[in-house]
Amino acid sequence: MAKPLVCFDIDGTLVRTRGAGREALDEAFQALHGWPSATEGVHVAGATDDVICRDVAARFGHAWRAEHTAALRDWYLLALAARLADPARTEVLPGLPRVIAAAAEVAEVCLLTGNWARGARLKLDAADLSRHFNWGVYSEDAFDRDGLVPAARHRAGERGLEVGAVVVVGDTVSDVRCARAGGAVAVVVETGFSTVESLRESRPDLQLSNLDAGSAAFLELVATLGR
Ligand SMILES: [Mg+2]
Repeated sequence: MAKPLVCFDIDGTLVRTRGAGREALDEAFQALHGWPSATEGVHVAGATDDVICRDVAARFGHAWRAEHTAALRDWYLLALAARLADPARTEVLPGLPRVIAAAAEVAEVCLLTGNWARGARLKLDAADLSRHFNWGVYSEDAFDRDGLVPAARHRAGERGLEVGAVVVVGDTVSDVRCARAGGAVAVVVETGFSTVESLRESRPDLQLSNLDAGSAAFLELVATLGR
């Protein structure tokens, strides 16, 4: 029988980087476009990096041009790496990596994140979680987060994996919306960027205070989907 596919978000779900991502984006926008405090007031949590670029540009009265992305991304990645070189920046959230490893015994696991792929790896490397994920889907794979579940199914197929139910594990109402858009089961943790109340109102299938305290319920859900 096809295994479930469990897709983990990164920021607020696996790790917190104490503003490193936002600071690095701000530095890149300032350096390359002269836009100060570029992400201020921009909806960042749960958004893909490409959507953030569009929204930042709009804030400064510009249309984001795709040809600007590569240079912005390169600057951002250097700025992010510099910040993550400080170990105090990275907080690995409770229950990890134990819960990822336990899920991987009964399911395929992957990343599903709005980060650009190389930014995702920088954050996971800083948290020493990279080796738990062989693959993922990123901002490059779907401009809008709601396209990431179909992208994950597609990539699983490319990798020769036969997957059944898909589970999205995230920390924001955007993760719940993304799961619904892709016909996936939505699991949320209260360790990230949405309030407990807003998460509840988004009606996820399972809401956990964190992946440690909620590990039994989470792993039971995954095991049930595989039966
Ligand atoms: Mg997140």
